[in-house]
Amino acid sequence: MKIAFNFKKLHAAVEKMKPEKKGAFYYYPQMPLPDLLNAKLKVGIDVPLNQIDFEMGLSRYQDRHVIFYVKDHGDNLLSVLDDPEMYGRKVHFWDCVLLKEAIEKGGIERYIVTNDDSGQFMISGYDFNLNKINEKAKLNICKSCLKKSNYKGYALKKPKEMLEIYQHFDLSVFFRTYSVFFPESSELKTCYVPEGYPVDWRKISTRYKTKMNYVCEGCGVKMSDHKMHLYTLHRNGDFLNNDEENLKNVCTACYMKEMPSSPALMFIHLHQTLTRLRQKQGLILRNSTWDDVFYHSEPGLHPLLYYCKEADTDLPEMGYSLKQEKDESALLFDLAWPKHRFAVMMDPRRVNMAKVKGWEIYMAKIQGWEVFSVKECLDNPEKLKTLMP
Ligand SMILES: [Zn+2]
Ligand SMILES: [Zn+2]
Repeated sequence: MKIAFNFKKLHAAVEKMKPEKKGAFYYYPQMPLPDLLNAKLKVGIDVPLNQIDFEMGLSRYQDRHVIFYVKDHGDNLLSVLDDPEMYGRKVHFWDCVLLKEAIEKGGIERYIVTNDDSGQFMISGYDFNLNKINEKAKLNICKSCLKKSNYKGYALKKPKEMLEIYQHFDLSVFFRTYSVFFPESSELKTCYVPEGYPVDWRKISTRYKTKMNYVCEGCGVKMSDHKMHLYTLHRNGDFLNNDEENLKNVCTACYMKEMPSSPALMFIHLHQTLTRLRQKQGLILRNSTWDDVFYHSEPGLHPLLYYCKEADTDLPEMGYSLKQEKDESALLFDLAWPKHRFAVMMDPRRVNMAKVKGWEIYMAKIQGWEVFSVKECLDNPEKLKTLMP
């Protein structure tokens, strides 16, 4: 029997991918089902405002990390297409002031939620003849969101630096910054061999990892039980030079530090796994300066850390575990100031659970601890000074 298969659609899909992401893809064996919600969010979903939640400060739709904007630009459309920066509506990503004003005025109710990071947004409106038009335009990010979230320390910067952050706002960097907060955002673990790499790259890398006992050469964590989260890099960037002196094995956390522009994402469970592994192996990262703290911490915590640095608090400990009585398990804090019994957790589930049941916070409270979510701290940054005098 002859099986006819038309590859046209596949090739068309490959063409749509960004050129730098082209290459030979392979997937881990436990490949999850295609993520339909993710695919819909790439295009954008029209929703009423009350379907977007801001529990984490960041806008979230069905547990996914999204940005959102108003599609309809009315009879202003032609001016917007002409100069979107000047006339276009803004793209929001936080529970911001402008949004509250809009709600109070009772005006805008529907928004497009999306996780598209191209910077081009589908907008609609009317031309001079009142014909309805849909067109893509580059919309800018909302400054009020930047300020409230303290993205890249925005709220603490001088006007010139603020403008810099605003003008160079990069959506793909933005989504990566907070990927650790969104366990659901993308479970699709694709790993790809970039174009131009030797065809036997996987073999080369596996051989080198085995030789080095699956130890991360960045932070020293042993990854033999988590091999798929150890990567091999080329020290001088030349991927055709596969001499051992030019190779370096790194865990996901170290990989993201070494390759900030890579498409890799950090997930909360992986972050916690790495933290626990390092603790078990006696590798707790010691910070003696704020630079160390920023280097070792998840970028999603940086907005809060900028405030801590500004308030001149003690340096936080990262991945601090609080032993619980009669219980083998320890409560893991993402940031902790043991002297002040003050801690911050970023996992939305744990923070939610703590709010609903109160048990984690309760256990900590018994031992005199105050535990907050990142958003609670960002909403009241001046409180940090009083909590840690
Ligand atoms: Zn906003
Ligand atoms: Zn590492």
